[in-house]
Amino acid sequence: MAILEEPIKEVLLIKNFIAGEWVESKGEIKDVVNPATDKTIAKVPISTKDEIDAAVKAAQEAFPDWRRTTPLARARCLFRLKELLEENFEELSRIQTQEHGKTIDESRGETRRGIENVEVATGIPTFMQGYFSEDVATDVDEWLIPTPLGVFGIIAPFNFPFMIPLWSAPYAVATGNCVVMKPSSEVPLTQMRLAELVDEAGIPPGVWNVVNGGRVIVSGMLEHPGIVGITFVGSTPTAKYIYEMCGKTGKRVIAQGGAKNFMVIMPDADVSRTIRALMTSFFGNTGQRCLSGANLLIVGDDDRFYNSFMDAVADAASRIVIGNGLDESVQMGPVRDKEKKERIIGYIESGIQQGAKLRLDGRRDIKIAGNYPETCFLGPTIFENVTPDMKIGTEEIFGPVMSVMRAKNLDEAIEMCNASPFGNGNAIFTSSGKNAREFQYRITSGNVGINIGIVAPMAFFPFSGMKDSFLGILHTQGQEAVRFFTESKVVIQRWL
Ligand code: NAD
Repeated sequence: MAILEEPIKEVLLIKNFIAGEWVESKGEIKDVVNPATDKTIAKVPISTKDEIDAAVKAAQEAFPDWRRTTPLARARCLFRLKELLEENFEELSRIQTQEHGKTIDESRGETRRGIENVEVATGIPTFMQGYFSEDVATDVDEWLIPTPLGVFGIIAPFNFPFMIPLWSAPYAVATGNCVVMKPSSEVPLTQMRLAELVDEAGIPPGVWNVVNGGRVIVSGMLEHPGIVGITFVGSTPTAKYIYEMCGKTGKRVIAQGGAKNFMVIMPDADVSRTIRALMTSFFGNTGQRCLSGANLLIVGDDDRFYNSFMDAVADAASRIVIGNGLDESVQMGPVRDKEKKERIIGYIESGIQQGAKLRLDGRRDIKIAGNYPETCFLGPTIFENVTPDMKIGTEEIFGPVMSVMRAKNLDEAIEMCNASPFGNGNAIFTSSGKNAREFQYRITSGNVGINIGIVAPMAFFPFSGMKDSFLGILHTQGQEAVRFFTESKVVIQRWL
């Protein structure tokens, strides 16, 4: 099958985008490697504290004018950005595949979801309206003005290089704030291209800055008095650290963490549709989604149902086509890098040691379509007889590994889901409205699926989460993001 043309043809030196200028960093340089081909495609700087300080300063300087720019004019910049994103849709998607490894269809889906957040944020003239009460006391009126706050830091994970920063950034700038973005240094390329388009869209210098790097940039943001708030998406330990530090330094914060999602299968589920949904849930994005299925929980004591369902699951998983995501016939790409592959293999070994039954072994049962180094490839893996005390049943693996468990009935299934410290995207598959309602009512999960395997809220809904999957109150996306990025200023007036 023909491979789509790679947009990145020569090794790119990634620069920081500060005050509307592309600035070469003084920090150490790391390689960005395409996990499908093992080829270096870019050099990314691990920027220094001075560089984050320069970006915050640029954002602070841009804030007064941007705040005074009318919401309508700010929305027009986002309309231009939306047009540019559409024009460059395919290039942006291919860059994601090259830097991350996901299939081109997954990248196109990600680009679409990112653009949808820009679209929703163009509604800011309406979203930012306040409210007014006449005569709260004799001759006294009172009203509320949502007002921007200044400079926000945006810290992103590796698994959705384009979309996740767009859960926050369009709303932050639409409301009149300025941003400093730190992409994951593992996948910095799409954010570089996005910043070029932001510039082309006429968003003024200093409003949208990008600083590449790691912990130094994160601590630089957390300690900087000029940053009023942070949105973070990543693993739970880092989310907890960010949340704690924002508490200490008085910054508002959204901290989205990790997950261990249960897909609950009732005996009355539509089998063929459910299996199709499970394949993308567990193995889409090579299992590297915060909404990926991790534990498959089959309900009921009917062994015949269990066995035939598992035969169909294992058969479908073993037929997934693995290879370079730029090959349109490929259904699953590599994991992001070889360290991640080794970490996942460590979990597979622990599953064997702890007595789970390895039904499909992605280390061995793997055929790669095309001639690619095996460095980052891993096939779908299925364990049966998993119990919640096993590491593969409780910890986030973040790879194409399915842990299969059983529950006597729906009550026990809900208890098992709710015993997990995570609460990100659990789902039930059933043809009973009663089961579905009971599940959505009792489940402690921020995003809930009913016959849906990847519970990704649209841009006009909040991206939710509970327990260790989310720390904060307001969420990214939609109206909640608008509230997060604004303070409610309340005015009370009397004229004598
Ligand atoms: P990560 O926590 O390793 O990194 C996230 C960001 O934090 C990166 O920009 C990284 O440079 C920075 N970082 C990492 N460790 C740090 C530290 N000790 N101090 C300061 N900064 C640090 O996460 P990741 O591996 O990039 O992403 C995968 C994780 O993200 C998974 O746990 C996944 O479930 C989670 N995730 C959650 C959501 C959600 O909406 N809840 C969405 C996507 C991904």
